[in-house]
Amino acid sequence: MKNISLLGATGSIGQQTADVVRSHPDQFKIVALSAGKNIELVRTYIQEFEPKLVSVQTEEDYHVLKSDFSSRKDIEFMYGDEGLTAVAVYGQATILVNAVIGSVGLYPTLQAIKAKKDIAIANKETLVTAGHLVISEAKKAGVRLLPVDSEHSAIFQALQGEKEKNIERLVITASGGSFRDRTREELKDVTVEEALNHPNWSMGAKITIDSASMMNKGLEVIEAHWLFDLPYDKIDVLLHKESIIHSMVEFHDSSVIAQLGTPDMRVPIQYALTYPDRIPLAGRKRLNLAEAGKLHFSDMDFTRYPCLQFAYKAGKMGGTMTTVLNAANEAAVSAFLSGKVTFLEIETLIEKALNQHSVIALPDLETIQEVDNMTRQYIESLVKDR
Ligand code: NDP
Ligand code: MG
Repeated sequence: MKNISLLGATGSIGQQTADVVRSHPDQFKIVALSAGKNIELVRTYIQEFEPKLVSVQTEEDYHVLKSDFSSRKDIEFMYGDEGLTAVAVYGQATILVNAVIGSVGLYPTLQAIKAKKDIAIANKETLVTAGHLVISEAKKAGVRLLPVDSEHSAIFQALQGEKEKNIERLVITASGGSFRDRTREELKDVTVEEALNHPNWSMGAKITIDSASMMNKGLEVIEAHWLFDLPYDKIDVLLHKESIIHSMVEFHDSSVIAQLGTPDMRVPIQYALTYPDRIPLAGRKRLNLAEAGKLHFSDMDFTRYPCLQFAYKAGKMGGTMTTVLNAANEAAVSAFLSGKVTFLEIETLIEKALNQHSVIALPDLETIQEVDNMTRQYIESLVKDR
């Protein structure tokens, strides 16, 4: 039995993790979980999974839940940043599934590493904002970081039994997001609803917008740099609209190993939980290549997708530049989702934030948190009168 603590239990990845646990109750148990504001779903989870520790975002919701479950003295309730960290390091858990969104996941991740927890990591913003800290702490503590992002899980699977020194390059595939068939001119007046309509995957709002702007692929390039310890010129991106090949590894002898499957995030989530084993996936849809018929590929156009260009540039500069990239993106996407800026303004705001920043090499946690906060304030100052 694997005891799981789950950060971001009410989100898209969190709910699919709950689904994996639900279909294998003999193998997995959720012992601690955190949520943001969806306390309706938290109530259901408490009845279904009987976790021992539950954390929510606000003090108000904490009081509501505590009174709803006042007869359950066996459950501890917490809230805020302290609660997130307590769930991440929960003593009875052997693995943390980090499915919270944003750099709010950084501190709990570092604490979980110190507490010697293996981590199934979906929370890519944590690796983008402070990959050097996460990776060096994980190495020091001897804990595993198991990728949940489908591309990184594909690469991780393709690398089983292989030596890292034999890798020529990684090829990360990109579906192209909601606007892949539109020109830049046609992006001027797109609405939030149109941006949220992803053709292949059903995901949380922020990552769906990131997919449309191609920033998601940019974040994934940086995530791959840290997870697989490769320089940026060995990480390529390829448009592949069917999302069947989830990513590939090319080796020095020109062999390419890819991982394929129908788009279903429960596959990488479950693999991270069962690694190095595999178990049947409940309700799986098998890949039928004859039915798919054709798979399409094309080169990435960096002019069409400036966010991808920003990510490579920030990644190569390193230090606090990727902290700025991530924080500016989080703040700009949030401004777009609340109707304050247009879709194309997301990239303008990120570019401004990157341009005004003087990079600091090898930042410590405090510096990262400071730069993250200052960047958000900078973006907020640019959009405050909208
Ligand atoms: P969602 O927005 O669907 O879920 C985010 C989760 O985090 C929710 O449980 C939310 O709570 C919680 N949360 C948000 N802000 C806070 C906060 N300040 N404090 C505590 N909890 C908070 O995101 P996704 O599931 O889509 O994505 C999660 C991560 O996984 C992201 O890093 C994303 O990039 C990555 N990822 C997602 C994929 C997907 O298919 N969705 C694919 C690959 C990677 P609540 O809803 O209760 O408010
Ligand atoms: Mg992905």
